[in-house]
Amino acid sequence: MKEYETLDHEDWQATQKVGHLMIDDAISFLQELRDKPVWVPMKDEDKAFFKTPMPKEGLSPDQVYDLYREKISPFIMGNPHPRFWAWYMGSGSMMGAMADFLTSITNSNAGAGNYVGQFIEDQVITWMRNIMTYPEDASGIIVSGGSMANFVGLAVARHVKAGFDIRKEGLQTSPRQMTFYASTEVHSCNQKAIELLGIGAAYFRRIPVHTDYTINLDILKEQIARDRLDGYQPVCIIGSAGTVNTGAIDDLNGLADICASEDMWYHVDGAIGAIAMISDVVRPRLSGIERSDSVALDLHKWLHIPFEAGCVLVKNRISHRDTFNLTPEYLEQNIRGLASGSNWYSEYGLQLSRRLRALKIWMCIKEHGISKLGRMITRNVDQAAHLEKLILDHSELELMAPVGLDIICYRYNLPTKNQDLNRLNREILITLHEKGWAIPSYTTLHGQYCIRVAIANHRSRYEDFDFLVAKTVELGQQLSK
Ligand SMILES: *Cc1c(COP(=O)(O)O)cnc(C)c1O
Repeated sequence: MKEYETLDHEDWQATQKVGHLMIDDAISFLQELRDKPVWVPMKDEDKAFFKTPMPKEGLSPDQVYDLYREKISPFIMGNPHPRFWAWYMGSGSMMGAMADFLTSITNSNAGAGNYVGQFIEDQVITWMRNIMTYPEDASGIIVSGGSMANFVGLAVARHVKAGFDIRKEGLQTSPRQMTFYASTEVHSCNQKAIELLGIGAAYFRRIPVHTDYTINLDILKEQIARDRLDGYQPVCIIGSAGTVNTGAIDDLNGLADICASEDMWYHVDGAIGAIAMISDVVRPRLSGIERSDSVALDLHKWLHIPFEAGCVLVKNRISHRDTFNLTPEYLEQNIRGLASGSNWYSEYGLQLSRRLRALKIWMCIKEHGISKLGRMITRNVDQAAHLEKLILDHSELELMAPVGLDIICYRYNLPTKNQDLNRLNREILITLHEKGWAIPSYTTLHGQYCIRVAIANHRSRYEDFDFLVAKTVELGQQLSK
């Protein structure tokens, strides 16, 4: 054994070779993506490889990379592919990936400290604030994604509106039960946050929606009034700027008015739609989002930053900091040196040690500029309209919901046949996946199974949707025989 063993490689030239090979492979991967299946299912023997015991002794870097090439890379999820439209994801970006590598090689920790990471994140937050037209003194933090962004926003809401020192007392001595409000279409992560904040799902009022899947403001107002009469304490309304089922945007000004007159916190879950403020076409539809007290953005979705990257903005910086700040002696800030500076990001969220996620966002925006990133969003919205028209024009296809933003729900429905359409469409969807042709996902609206296409993809072309329609019809005809 050598005297000073480290985890660095002994043969740097060999490392260099593997590193170059990885970059070459990464570029080929992106170049050849379109001609590959979107997804390849793993066989049992492929899965069995991941049951092998932990190695006691190691391999060389190139041997490890060979394992990646052979056992892992054929079976990736497929979301960078031009015909991946499942759930709601982004496509990633080369610069984002390379920036992530730089973040790792410098092992940057963005929780605390007087070093450049702080200023990168400050600038990214400033940019997000400008995009959302939030005031200059608003605060924000880069987080893992939409779930954590909503969690932070709702935690501040609870802290500010509780009416007592909830950090000290918790909910143990709470005089009244707090209630939160959102539509039935709101994303499930908000319920998780409300559960973990100790409010309890039973106090999360889920308000019915209109036929376009936006929240019904009249019912919302009635519910708040009834809750007040019954002795509850209504504290927060969550608006959806793009729902996960259909991309519906709530009446964001209407919600702002209610929050103002009811003295409630206004949080917007903008995981899908908020970043679309950079699209000239979508921006007018988001009017009112700037009136929120806090807003969640998801940058690994429509901004195509590699996972993970989300952001939350809070209009009142002091409230934000007061919700999370706790400074023991070992984290007290010095006047000079690395441990100096103000506004450490660990004071604005749950994490102390944090990956410097801001770097990849910063480098992507520097590379592409915000106009081009906005054009990618606008094109997806146009592509949604294109697909909507293809569906409406086809006698064997049925549009299942109004198209909000970039999400289309449809199904195969040949009107002359009496068949189980839910089963048929599930089978069509699974076959599309298994053939590797396209990866939409699914949802159920009014008990009807829908194929759901969420187009947050900068690589999709109009012809990809022509292909999807052709394959849906082909499978529909085959499978209903
Ligand atoms: C994706 C999504 C979330 C959750 O975001 P993650 O980044 O997956 O944690 C929350 N709300 C909406 C509307 C979403 O689409």
